[in-house]
Amino acid sequence: MSRVVERFIKYVKFDTKADEESNTVPTTEGQLVFAKELGKELEELGLKDVSVDENGYVMATLPANVDKKVPVVGFIAHMDTSPDMSATNVKPKFVENYDGGDIKLNEEVILSPKDFPELKNYIGDTLITTDGTTLLGADDKAGIAEIITAVEYLVQHPEIPHGTIKIGFTPDEEVGRGADYFDTYKFGADLAYTIDGGAIGELEYENFNAAGAKVTFQGRNVHPGYAKDKMINSMLIANEFISALPESETPQATEGYEGFYHLNSINGDVEKTVLNYIIRDFDKDSFEKRKQTIKEISENLNKKYPGRVSIEIKDQYRNMREKIESVMYVVDNAKKAMELAGVKPIVKPIRGGTDGARLSFMGLPTPNIFTGGLNFHGKYEYVPVCSMEKAVEVILKLVDLYVNM
Ligand SMILES: [Zn+2]
Repeated sequence: MSRVVERFIKYVKFDTKADEESNTVPTTEGQLVFAKELGKELEELGLKDVSVDENGYVMATLPANVDKKVPVVGFIAHMDTSPDMSATNVKPKFVENYDGGDIKLNEEVILSPKDFPELKNYIGDTLITTDGTTLLGADDKAGIAEIITAVEYLVQHPEIPHGTIKIGFTPDEEVGRGADYFDTYKFGADLAYTIDGGAIGELEYENFNAAGAKVTFQGRNVHPGYAKDKMINSMLIANEFISALPESETPQATEGYEGFYHLNSINGDVEKTVLNYIIRDFDKDSFEKRKQTIKEISENLNKKYPGRVSIEIKDQYRNMREKIESVMYVVDNAKKAMELAGVKPIVKPIRGGTDGARLSFMGLPTPNIFTGGLNFHGKYEYVPVCSMEKAVEVILKLVDLYVNM
């Protein structure tokens, strides 16, 4: 078994499921247990400044072995797994020399190329799957295994020149809190990469601009038998609001770089109705326009039903592209590293947000590189061994590119 696989198999045994409801940092105790284990491992590797803080953030340094000035490169992965699926007692299974057919995870659960056609890309490869009862945790323990394995290689091969390398493992990415207590100053990198998610070749440096809009409609309830010209039904005003937004700009009707309005919830009765929307767009101007549209529809309805409509719009996160564009070499180097490792880069916009996006706005430009895993957050999750090994190679090529820049 290769080192990266060995590590990965060890890590998935740690239950690090995040918990949205929890107010502790990290949200679950298991993450702290895993953080301490990783800290120990990094110490044993001989890394410097190894720290595991009380919030569960793990950091370490591999000092440069060259005299010249080289950018300090960080590699970041997250320790937690999705709150949507059990991560207790994960029993990874190996499918060697995959033949392109159905994979029986257990008596009831089949991982089939009919449902997941990408499986066909991995014929002949060794796959690591679940036993059909939990998720696998390749998101993002594959990333952690890949980073540590690459750094171990550098430690064992001191003849390979490299700049200072920083390692950071974060908790609670899956509940959107991974960057909350990330100390970019302490981390001390000039730029970083998250190694997280995605099939081999994926490279991401664009994500949505995001806002939430809460629209409240105030009605007036009267006995329906005596309601003529008196009753104001807040649900029906809400209905007018909903209908005023373009039907074609919803999550189910958009893809790629297209933005949307998403009606996330309706709570209402005659007296009061609340609509919760999320607004997403890659383009900054068109994002602002969407917020403006929401305001205009409310204003128009307020003309028809004076004082009945109020809105609250809150920005949530922003497209990291804004911050990456001035340091495009960070992305170009990732592409180059992939090509040098024989991997075809697949640049895709993230239709969501990432910790990397938040870190980029905290002053640490952080695009994302694949781990090789697929079908995250559920029992069909799997990771091809070849892809994990390629991710290790990409990290090493990147390190090499920066020392020779
Ligand atoms: Zn992830």
